[in-house]
Amino acid sequence: MLDVIVIGAGFSGLQAAYSAQQAGLSTAVVEARDRVGGKIWSVPLASGRGYAELGGAWINNSLQRRVWSYVQRFGLEVVTQRLEGKAVMQENEDHRLEFPFGVTPDWSAEEKKNLEYIRDHIQAESLKPGLPSAEDDNVSLDQYVRNLGALPKVANMVNLWARVMHGLESTEESAAWFIDYCRRNKGLLAIRADDSTGGQYMRFKDGAQSIAKGIAHLVGAQNIHLESPVASINEHGSHISVVTRDGKIFNARKCILSIPSTMYRELNITPSLPKPVQEVTDGTVLGDYNKAIVCYDTPWWRSEGFNGYFASYKGPVILARDTSVDERNHYSLTCFVNGLPGREWGKLYPHDRRAVVLKQIAKIFNADADSEVFRPIEFFDQIWKHEEFSRGALAPVTALGHLTKYASVYGKPVGNIHFVGTEYSTEWKGYMEGALCSGEKGAREVVEAMQKVSAKL
Ligand SMILES: Cc1cc2nc3c(=O)[nH]c(=O)nc-3n(C[C@H](O)[C@H](O)[C@H](O)COP(=O)(O)OP(=O)(O)OC[C@H]3O[C@@H](n4cnc5c(N)ncnc54)[C@H](O)[C@@H]3O)c2cc1C
Repeated sequence: MLDVIVIGAGFSGLQAAYSAQQAGLSTAVVEARDRVGGKIWSVPLASGRGYAELGGAWINNSLQRRVWSYVQRFGLEVVTQRLEGKAVMQENEDHRLEFPFGVTPDWSAEEKKNLEYIRDHIQAESLKPGLPSAEDDNVSLDQYVRNLGALPKVANMVNLWARVMHGLESTEESAAWFIDYCRRNKGLLAIRADDSTGGQYMRFKDGAQSIAKGIAHLVGAQNIHLESPVASINEHGSHISVVTRDGKIFNARKCILSIPSTMYRELNITPSLPKPVQEVTDGTVLGDYNKAIVCYDTPWWRSEGFNGYFASYKGPVILARDTSVDERNHYSLTCFVNGLPGREWGKLYPHDRRAVVLKQIAKIFNADADSEVFRPIEFFDQIWKHEEFSRGALAPVTALGHLTKYASVYGKPVGNIHFVGTEYSTEWKGYMEGALCSGEKGAREVVEAMQKVSAKL
């Protein structure tokens, strides 16, 4: 019998397995997909010029110590986000604003003041310690900022934040959930920043999945069972048995479950998880968090003075960044197609998805119908809701009122089952760093629980 069986080989599951092994526990990992990395998936470009990051991409060297220590340990090369140039804000089909990157777009004085007031209020809230109030958990983020006096344009901007950060509308998440997310992630400004102070500072030249592959190598290929979707988890008190869809059985003293909580209900867990755990996890939702990555032969947008960053209220692309790696001649714009516009975009046929994205890019950058915009050398799109083993992204979001109501049970062990995943992290929740942090914690919990058992014997 194993000491630990880990379900899922995303960042949190791999880290949990590695930490458990480091503590001397025999460990195996069962993963549904034919690859490791989960929501980190780096696909080689046909041009040979690098990788398309279909999932997570950005890291920060000074703020995310776990991820950075793997970058150093595995000798991975990174590039910093290129920021020089003008950004564009698309307010509606016919109205766009160019502005120097990093400043508030040129709105009226009243709108600017209002935006700064709402932003500073949320930033101040997000630097406070502890869990936000139940009152704020029972109101949507949209209602919360309207109660603070947000003007329509500013409420729209807050909606854009929710779309960019979580793939949801601001009416679909509680104010407390949003503030708690900011609290765990060094504040709203750090989450939004693309420079050394924030989450979008650096990218990998050879793909973020290199980290997952590196950790998998440390865990040992012989201990990782790919293409083995788990169907059921059976608690026997003295141990756990995990059964895959194709009937493989793994017996272990402890189980670490690393799949997003929204998907627990898809497993047959016996006995059932306690009612409050079911209520909070069944109630979580995953956002529409999609990417369209458009690769070009040249970074044509730079010659017009643009840095490739744009945001749009209208969509379908709600935000885009330059994700080139110049020294590899890889030039790309990574477009996030999130929230409600992403939900609609995901229903289109692939050729229509591509057509609307290119048309929007042309509009944003004032490009002609015969411009380079319409001659990408490669185009990728990734809809995470369509993935059987992800069902959306970024990370599960609790239903209105549930974050505070179920704080004492959400993510806490049940018998021999321990829960990990970026959603439970106290630091950089929703990010690779958060997944690593939660994986470490889950392994620590298991080690402590096993020590308690052996002390009793
Ligand atoms: C488009 C996008 C952009 C992002 N951008 C960034 C970014 O720039 N920076 C950043 O740090 N983070 C980013 N993220 C978030 C980051 O990818 C996640 O926070 C992190 O990868 C989550 O890791 P995890 O281990 O918690 O979950 P997952 O990666 O979801 O891992 C869960 C694993 O469980 C497996 N699994 C599911 N069901 C079963 C089953 N029944 N049996 C066995 N295995 C199963 C899955 O296949 C998966 O491997 C982004 C994510 C997306 C999708």
